[in-house]
Amino acid sequence: MRKKRHFLSVLLFVLTGLFLFSCQNCWNRVTTSSFKVNGRVAPKGIDTPQPILSWRVESNKRGIAQTAYRILVASSRDLLEDDRGDLWDSGMVLSSETVGIPYDGKTLVSRQSCWWKVKIWDQDGKELSWSKPAFWSMGLLNPGDWSAQWIGLDRPVGTDNVTDQHTRVSARMLRKEIVLSQKVKNATLYVCGLGLFEYYINGKKVGKEVLSPALSEFGKRAYYVTHDVTEYLSKGDNTLGVILGNGRYCPVRPENMESGRFGFPKLIQQLEVEYVDGSVQTFISDESWKITADGPIVSNNEFDGEEYDATKEMDGWNENGFDDSSWLSAERVQAGAAKLSAQPTPPIRVMETVCPVSVREVSPGVHIYDMGQNMVGWVRLKVKGQRGERIKLRFAETLQSDSSLYLANMRSALVTDTYTLRGGGPESYEPRFTYHGFRYVELTGYPGKPDLSTIEGKVVYDEMPTTGTFETSNPVLNTVYRNAYWGIKGNYRSIPTDCPQRDERMGWLGDRAVGSIGESFVFGNGVLYAKWLGDIRDAQSEEGSVPDLVPTQYWNYTDNVTWPAAYLVVGDMIYRQFGDMTVIRNHYDSYRKWILYMRDRYMKDGIIARDIYGDWCMPPERQDLIHSGDPARKTDGAILSTTYYYHLLSLMQKFAGLLDKQEDSVQYRLLADTVYQAYNAAYLNPDQPGYGNNTATANLLSLAFGLVPEEHRDAVFERIVDKTMNDFGGHISTGLVGAQWMMRTLTANGREDIAYRLATNTDYPSWGYMAEKGATTIWELWNGDTADPAMNSGNHVMLLGDLVIWFYEDLAGIKNDPESAGFKHIIMKPCLPEGLNRVKASYNSVRGPIESEWEKQEDRFIWNITIPANTTATVYVPSIGVDRMLESGKRIAKSEHLTFVRMEGRYAVFEAGSGHYEFVSQ
Ligand code: BGC
Repeated sequence: MRKKRHFLSVLLFVLTGLFLFSCQNCWNRVTTSSFKVNGRVAPKGIDTPQPILSWRVESNKRGIAQTAYRILVASSRDLLEDDRGDLWDSGMVLSSETVGIPYDGKTLVSRQSCWWKVKIWDQDGKELSWSKPAFWSMGLLNPGDWSAQWIGLDRPVGTDNVTDQHTRVSARMLRKEIVLSQKVKNATLYVCGLGLFEYYINGKKVGKEVLSPALSEFGKRAYYVTHDVTEYLSKGDNTLGVILGNGRYCPVRPENMESGRFGFPKLIQQLEVEYVDGSVQTFISDESWKITADGPIVSNNEFDGEEYDATKEMDGWNENGFDDSSWLSAERVQAGAAKLSAQPTPPIRVMETVCPVSVREVSPGVHIYDMGQNMVGWVRLKVKGQRGERIKLRFAETLQSDSSLYLANMRSALVTDTYTLRGGGPESYEPRFTYHGFRYVELTGYPGKPDLSTIEGKVVYDEMPTTGTFETSNPVLNTVYRNAYWGIKGNYRSIPTDCPQRDERMGWLGDRAVGSIGESFVFGNGVLYAKWLGDIRDAQSEEGSVPDLVPTQYWNYTDNVTWPAAYLVVGDMIYRQFGDMTVIRNHYDSYRKWILYMRDRYMKDGIIARDIYGDWCMPPERQDLIHSGDPARKTDGAILSTTYYYHLLSLMQKFAGLLDKQEDSVQYRLLADTVYQAYNAAYLNPDQPGYGNNTATANLLSLAFGLVPEEHRDAVFERIVDKTMNDFGGHISTGLVGAQWMMRTLTANGREDIAYRLATNTDYPSWGYMAEKGATTIWELWNGDTADPAMNSGNHVMLLGDLVIWFYEDLAGIKNDPESAGFKHIIMKPCLPEGLNRVKASYNSVRGPIESEWEKQEDRFIWNITIPANTTATVYVPSIGVDRMLESGKRIAKSEHLTFVRMEGRYAVFEAGSGHYEFVSQ
């Protein structure tokens, strides 16, 4: 028997962010203590006026439901403990909702501290104890709150070169000594250093973030970061120190330098100190700071690497008493961005450390390390040697046949970190302002004989919880899942990127549309994607055009449909997977603007013919090609654009419905009807039902988006089967657009056997083929082992399509009911392809963990599931009849909180309350 303990926990959404702060409280005995979940403390410096609150009900009992709640928000912890919500007392609200409750109290002001807690009433109307308190604080809400100035040196200095293709700019170091007249009660730092910064107080680095701040659309805004630095300061002398790197602000390539949206590294910081007597002193960045461009980071460039000369280190530069007389006075410079906003995401951090699995000297003095995994980040180097000796590290995803690095697919990225020794004892180095995508590391110039302890890999991505686990009886599926897992996290860099290694690493919209749904099972990525949607809105043109890549490091407003579509698809993902309505509310007007812009500019008689990328990266006819030149393989651009536009109109209708915009909704429906008619008139062949030249993609999109007239659906589906099984010998034939609908469409139409075959293939083209050829991530091209290196990354996640969604929703059977948001009602319906005997998966949803573990045994099917408290599920148990089933060892009729509804094909369908269930069926 499981031990009966019941919990209520609190988690807090802020802005559109899912910041987890949970306190696990016993329902009957609530105690107050500090709260923390996933290692993160409370969010500081929120700048949305109406933060969103959420909590989670946890219990191991069945049939648990919330019927009402009451929220208290107080300006101090003491007031909250006295149950006095001076900022907001929601009163008892009859609602089962736990996710996305907008704060509705007194207007929140800059710097406001907010303590909050919630209590709920359960299914029997029983009032439960208060949760433990949670906290957030407001940031600087008005431009007038900033008295600090942007400082730096708006020009090349020393060896800087911003005209060469490989820009070389040294890191700027800034310092300022301050005197605190009293003991500190509270100190808050607001800081933004562009492109990247590290902040020190009295020699100690503030925070654990790296590559900070988050990328933004620099033409519109930059993100500042807030830290509670009370512990770093003391009465008397203190020293503030900052190192500024280039990131993407001081461009990696020279083209952008003059665009007015980029520039030389710069800093703005405001340190607000409250003393014990309640008085406040503010220390700002201004011309009294000192600056040097002559520190040890001689050059830093995200594509080319970092050059660090330890002989130029200046001991004590960020501590009291350092002689900075040779440093320059900081100059007041142009603002880094028109607007400063609070960074809405947790920072990027070193999330894991990986040790190399082997090292080989491949030629005299050249050592090649194998990290055993294509990873993203950098290495930490340990060395002992003579002052001035120079070590070089280069990075690659694969090796050539002579065991040297294969660098052709890095294109112009030099991917080289250089370290010059200081000498005189053991030293260690890891870069600050660059990152690489690599499995292999070449080490040259090393004094002595390096071994496996010489380097260790630092895996770097945005701090977020891993929310999914997935394992099956099929090793190919397990390997592909593992490759997807590494690829996805390696492509988070405060935006979702296309790739992490070559001279690109951009937020290409098309790569991360439907894929983001699959990713959301694996990682708690709602906050990251919500932030990216903000960046996309920033990048939208006055007229309404949405670019293909964001942030717009270069111009890309091509007005195709399939890439910008991600703007809406991802918004829908956040709503459906995380239950966050704010994204829909916040972006609706921009969505509408784009949809109407595209209609007005490009729609002719119900068809949008404009397309740029086609079904990007389909398997080409020759293995050395990047793109196919075969018309029979290519999907007509007008089919891609028009079907996608139709799909987006359905999303707009959904959004308008959610926001109660009836007129808009009717408008989208009418427009969709026009598109439907025009599309079928133009592209359906009614004699042999199918669309255009019958690529799998053309028919998949038509079917998945509901564009196929009822009477032709079966025939059109058969076309997909025929194309896949006969023309492509049981292999995928699509690029990234078609792949987003392939697995689910096959399964929904009863051919999970084909879906399973595609997922487990190990010959070309397939995900398994990549693994078979040694990939430990997912390739950009199906033929990534043979194609031209000009566009051939080993770590792109776009070709995953809807595979990861299929793993969770279909194989494990964990799916949000499309009628609900954020898994309030769950559809649990596993599909059981022939040949797959076991699946074990879990998904830690916003409402709690959902689990599914099934196994086929000779004469029976065993399925254990967990449905989180305060949610319900429709459960489809594979079975030939309900009378042959047991649940937790009992006849179904005796099972609590489980109601048999009907038999549907091979499934017995139940409605279930929350809790854990163990089914055995035949
Ligand atoms: C990127 C892709 C992207 C494409 C669009 C490529 O270079 O790596 O992932 O979607 O360009 O043109």
